[in-house]
Amino acid sequence: MTTHADRRRRRRARPTVCHCCRGTVPFCWACRQCGFAICQACMEENFWGLSCNGITWVCPDCGASNGLGNQ
Ligand SMILES: [Zn+2]
Ligand SMILES: [Zn+2]
Repeated sequence: MTTHADRRRRRRARPTVCHCCRGTVPFCWACRQCGFAICQACMEENFWGLSCNGITWVCPDCGASNGLGNQ
């Protein structure tokens, strides 16, 4: 399946499984240290507990700080 979108970003076309809700989503935030993945919905739901400044989020698994920017 080739679409126009493939040319722009072909980093990871594979869907990811969110470690939080176990759902398969097209995009997950992933901890760069342990690989913990959390989907956008779960991130927003737990934002108060994961991010204190809106710039980084703390992995609930290993406690590593990850950027919320263009990861
Ligand atoms: Zn989720
Ligand atoms: Zn982690």
